Formats: sequence, C-alpha cells, structure tokens
Amino acid sequence: MPTYSVIIPCYNEEEVLRETHKRMTRVMQGMGESYELIYVNDGSRDDTAKILEDICKQDANARAIMFARNAGHQMAVSAGLDYADGDAVIIIDADLQDPPEVIPEMAKRWKDGVQVVYGQRKKRDGETFFKKFTASVYYKSLSKLTNGMVPRDTGDFRLVDRQVADVIRSMPEHARFLRGMFAWAGFKQEAYLYDRDKRFAGETHYPLKKMLKLAADGVFSFSVKPLKAAWMCGLCWIGLGCLIGFVLLICLLFGASSSAWWLAALMMVLAGNVLVCVGIAGEYMGRIYDDVRARPLYIVARTLGFDRAE
Ligand code: UDP
Ligand code: MG
Repeated sequence: MPTYSVIIPCYNEEEVLRETHKRMTRVMQGMGESYELIYVNDGSRDDTAKILEDICKQDANARAIMFARNAGHQMAVSAGLDYADGDAVIIIDADLQDPPEVIPEMAKRWKDGVQVVYGQRKKRDGETFFKKFTASVYYKSLSKLTNGMVPRDTGDFRLVDRQVADVIRSMPEHARFLRGMFAWAGFKQEAYLYDRDKRFAGETHYPLKKMLKLAADGVFSFSVKPLKAAWMCGLCWIGLGCLIGFVLLICLLFGASSSAWWLAALMMVLAGNVLVCVGIAGEYMGRIYDDVRARPLYIVARTLGFDRAE
C-alpha cells in the first residue's frame, strides 16, 4: 500500500498530460515516500487514453481508469477514491491550475494530525471576471444555506486521510458535490491557502451548463432551505391574495367598477410562483429518483497499472 494516492481526473487533456505527469512525478519523488498516480480518463475524445497508456507503460507508479463515457469531474474523482490505496489521498486537477509543488506542505499538516487539508484559493489567475464574480456570489450563498458548513473559495484540490476517504466512499449519492461531502464528513480540517494558476494549456471543460449543474448539486444536496423558501413564498401570496380580495370587496360595496387587467397580471405572477415552487420540489425529486434507481456512479471500460499482470 503506497503512502500517497494522487487522483487526477482527465477529460480531453492531451495538451497537458505529459507535463502534468512530469511535474507530479518530480514532486512526489522529492517527498521520498511511496506513491501512486491514478489518472481517471473521463471518456476523453482526444489522445488522452493513448498518452495514459504510454505513461502507465513507462512508470510503475502510474495507473489509469478508463471510463466508458464522460461521467463528469465529480464521478471521475469518486472513481479515483474507490481505487486509491494510499494512507493519504490527494485530489488535483490535470491542468496544473492547482500547483503540485504545494503537496509536500499539505502532507506536513497531515502528518501533524490534520485529516483534511483543503486548498483555499487566495488568487484566481486566468479566470474571467464573470467566473470570479459568480463564484464569489455562489460560495457566499452556499455558505449561508449550509450554515457555514461548506467553506468559501474551495475546490476539490485537497489532501485527505484514508479514514475520511473511506467515509466519502461509503456515501452512495448520485448528486455528488465532493467539496460539500468532505465538509459534511467532519474530522479535523484545515484550509491551505494557495494561488490558483492559469490552465497550463487547453480550455476549461466546465462550460456554464456543467457549472450550473454542480452549483445546483451543492445547494440541493446540502440544504432544504429552498423548500422552506417555497413554503414562505406560498404563504406571502396567500396573504397578498386575501388583502386584495378584501380591498376589492370594499370597492364593490362602494360601487366602484373593478378593472380586470391587473388581476390578470397578478394571476400570471402567481402562476409563475407556483411553477417555481414545483420546480424546486422537482429538483429534490429528480435527485431522489437518481438515488432510488441506484445505478452505478460510473462505468469503467478498463484499468491500467493496478495489476502489473494486466
Ligand atoms: N474534468 C473531468 N470531466 C469533465 C470535466 C472536467 O474529468 O467532464 C476534469 C478536467 O480534465 C480537469 C478537472 O476536471 O482535470 C477540472 O476541469 P477544468 O479545468 O476544465 O475546470 P475549471 O478548472 O475550468 O473549473
Ligand atoms: Mg481547470
């Protein structure tokens, strides 16, 4: 069993993989303990699989899990956790935005007894104003919704103890928001402040749609406050309806003719409100449906390097 398992999710990362492997290897060898680098190929359509085959052939510390199709970043990391054997598990992006050179510092804290050392971003280089702004609003709101449980400006870059990795592995939920799941698990956790770099090469694989899905998973998997908000909205509308009804009644009693157009507008707003509330309930229902079907989180087509006899 190695001391460290490093999980590196890869989706169409042909431009960066060789450099990533070089830098990861330099850092891990410098630490002087046993390690394994677990690359998870999340259904890439470029030459990622081929490059990983080469890497695994040349380096006995490298392993690869090849998915049958793209299942998403969170599933790729979850697969890595399932296969990782190390006493400590490190999760890091393939694009070198999270600098591998800080891993020894994180490991030092782990050896001092911290069970989750999570990377917290001081600076985000190479990210658009839109991304920085939406991330800031999102993390502030999520922190409120979860009563401060999910820390701000924290991604998946972290080093965790085996005990914590095993807790996450025992959580079968499909809507996976790993940074939230780690926070939820508890244990001794500490932030490690670092500067997030620019992507080494290539482009982000988190388009707005995937980002929104992850953001929604964060909210709906860790808070039922949206359901309570739906409740409150409903109550407010009932209150307003009663008030308007009362005013109309008075107007009618005094002979004033009621105009219907603003009633129509009110009805539309009300109908919209009802649909939004149904939608919120639907978000939870969809996630319950995913969990009830209990399909596997990801499908592995093949693995490399885990069994030297392969
Ligand atoms: N990734 C993945 N599956 C996906 C999308 C991304 O495994 O469907 C990987 C990607 O290769 C990278 C990490 O997840 O190692 C973070 O993705 P990316 O750098 O594109 O996101 P960003 O840093 O822009 O948020
Ligand atoms: Mg990135």
